Amino acid sequence: MITSVLNTAELRKDFPLLEQSVNGKKLVYLDNAATTQKPKEVLEALNTYYEEYNSNVHRGVHLLSQKATDAYEAARTNVAAFINAKHSHEVIFTRGTTEGINLISNTFGRMFLQKGDSILITAMEHHSNIVPWQMICEERGATLKVLPIDDDGVLKMEELPALLDDKTKLFAFTYVSNSLGTVNDVHEIIAQAHGKNIPVLVDAAQAVQHMKVDVQHLDADFLVFSGHKIYGPTGIGVLYGKEQWLNVLPPWQGGGDMIKTVSFEKTVYNELPYKYEAGTPDVSGAIGLSAAITYLNGIGLEAIEESEHELIQYALEKLTAIEGLTFIGKAKDRAGAISFLLNGIHPFDVGELLDKQGIAVRTGHHCTQPLMDIFNIPGTVRASFAFYNTREDVDLLVAGVRKAAQMLS
Ligand code: PLP
Repeated sequence: MITSVLNTAELRKDFPLLEQSVNGKKLVYLDNAATTQKPKEVLEALNTYYEEYNSNVHRGVHLLSQKATDAYEAARTNVAAFINAKHSHEVIFTRGTTEGINLISNTFGRMFLQKGDSILITAMEHHSNIVPWQMICEERGATLKVLPIDDDGVLKMEELPALLDDKTKLFAFTYVSNSLGTVNDVHEIIAQAHGKNIPVLVDAAQAVQHMKVDVQHLDADFLVFSGHKIYGPTGIGVLYGKEQWLNVLPPWQGGGDMIKTVSFEKTVYNELPYKYEAGTPDVSGAIGLSAAITYLNGIGLEAIEESEHELIQYALEKLTAIEGLTFIGKAKDRAGAISFLLNGIHPFDVGELLDKQGIAVRTGHHCTQPLMDIFNIPGTVRASFAFYNTREDVDLLVAGVRKAAQMLS
């Protein structure tokens, strides 16, 4: 099927997994916010690494190690260009978004959080942008504050100025909500925080795959995302940090590679980015992520954004026509996910019936339990989209939801 901007039918052929049937039905994969499928380019890059130059990095003088090191560092440069970082050493490879946030909560928290200080988050954060801050606040005697949302699932920006007070040491917030699909006004948030000299951490786990993210244009102090949500492998992620912050903060984990010299009396830490990459890194993961980014660059993030926007509008329109369906999250500016409930039916039951029809959606709290508590619901049914989804996928989802409604009501 051809949308106005992308030839989705052609692009889908790059994703072998999408070709299969599930429960005897054509697979309709709408769980992309949890993890995306991988194009052949990524699978081939992983295979080539393991078949041709698998070796440890930064250590060997032998040819294979040099090749692996070159590919690993080229991946860093590719990621840096993708998010427009000023320096490639501002890109730290992590295990994913969660690890990136833990790295900053541990280092920044221990260095700057004092008793009585606070960290600000929002009501729509994923557990990974709540719990690490709770842990460090508890340890340091600090408070975790929350910017609330309205009934549509949009941040109450009018409450932000008062929350950005002189006790607030950092504002950590998501770019796009994984549960509601809300796209936050990140430029405005960062301008307000910086107006009060408060640094920000942007959770871009649900943003980088849907829109162009430029860390310099945003003026983000820290930004994190996961490889597996942007068509790359699991186990690899990115922490971007401004050079001046990463130079000031202490290392987090200790071990090989993050050192210049070690004696029993004293260790001299390595320079950026190695200071934050203790131990053997996920070499193949970085190479796979880089292949995913090159693949996405070939399509163009602008075209992806436009195509997905069109598809989401189509899905909203079609789902609205289903009697008894209520959307959870009604922001105008949205990307990725659509959450809904059906006639008071438990989301798990809807999800199970959809699975029987070959339709993969997510049901539950989506690692945002406090957000579900605000809406006073146990969870939602979430359909989340990638550029390889088509109008046909949406039509099958809508037919599936109608069938589930009939059977369960
Ligand atoms: N932040 C957001 C907004 C997410 O959607 C997710 C995953 O769903 C995460 C953080 C955690 O990502 P990971 O499990 O890859 O570390």
